[in-house]
Amino acid sequence: MEKRRLGKTNIEVSSISYGGSPLGGVYGDNDIASQIDSVQYAISKGINFIDTSPYYGSKLSETVLGDALKGVPRDKYYLGTKVGRYGLSDFNFSYDTIIASVKESMQRMGVDYLDVVQCHDIEFGDLGQVINESIPALLKLKSDGLVRHIGVTGYPLSAIERVVEARGPCLDVILSYCHYTLNDSTLQSSLPVFQQHDIGVINASFLNMGMLTNRGPPAWHPAPDKLKQKCVEAAELCKSRGSDISKLALQFATMNPSIHTNLVGMPCRQQVDLNLETLSQPIDDQLLQDVLELFKPLKDLIWTSGKPEN
Ligand code: NAD
Repeated sequence: MEKRRLGKTNIEVSSISYGGSPLGGVYGDNDIASQIDSVQYAISKGINFIDTSPYYGSKLSETVLGDALKGVPRDKYYLGTKVGRYGLSDFNFSYDTIIASVKESMQRMGVDYLDVVQCHDIEFGDLGQVINESIPALLKLKSDGLVRHIGVTGYPLSAIERVVEARGPCLDVILSYCHYTLNDSTLQSSLPVFQQHDIGVINASFLNMGMLTNRGPPAWHPAPDKLKQKCVEAAELCKSRGSDISKLALQFATMNPSIHTNLVGMPCRQQVDLNLETLSQPIDDQLLQDVLELFKPLKDLIWTSGKPEN
């Protein structure tokens, strides 16, 4: 599988990587044996970066990963988790919480270092605290050898950009979600800000948190109904051409070399296979143009997330 250098980390990361949120039951998948198998299978197939958070399923995702990674040689995967978000409205970006949180995550997953740790959904916090307290905590963990690379994640690109502008030289990665998909490519215009500091770019949720699948979005999905309806139309169009909206979304996201890796949840072996197979196939250019055209009236439509000032 194609690998790309994840910014200044020097990690050669696979173009798709393993999203850990479904391991927390976020999408209703709860066959733990199949989830564990999917993690080990993905690694065996060259998917080398795994992303999780203590937030996913109230620590369940990290616990499942701890079981899945037992016995897998540590040099076969890169593991990333997050700090600061612990529930729907439970956030804490303080120095001491971050230090304790990382140590707990490591224990839960049975590892003695983490490749990546990011502040999770910074738009819900005080960005001043993220800049002046959370990042110094992550730098301390880095200098202690517990964490190799650090970053921030969130939905509003403006919040990520603000932190990068203040702390760019010491950030290794950022994670943006739902902003490089068939209906929203706003991440593209933020890339120069990240490239200035050689920051690794992780694009999550190119299936738009399930919206660009035949199954459709989960009940909690924050997108406006008109966008959800448009996704149903796009899925129908793909079906009518003998294709699948999820395949097109994956091929679209992975085509952009400035995006270093694309996280996708795939909690069973069949979805790993499906996504790897899709990756090896050429994109249907005509279908892509038609789907982009269909989304045009709602292109780059975003929803609010976090504190209004962020
Ligand atoms: P996703 O959009 O990647 O996946 C949604 C659903 O699609 C899952 O149920 C998955 O099983 C399913 N799926 C996967 N491949 C499919 C296929 N080929 N056909 C049909 N369905 C398929 O959603 P996501 O899980 O939100 O995003 C991926 C990962 O990115 C997460 O698991 C998480 O690790 C990360 N993420 C992080 C943040 C953050 O840090 N703020 C936000 C969103 C996502």
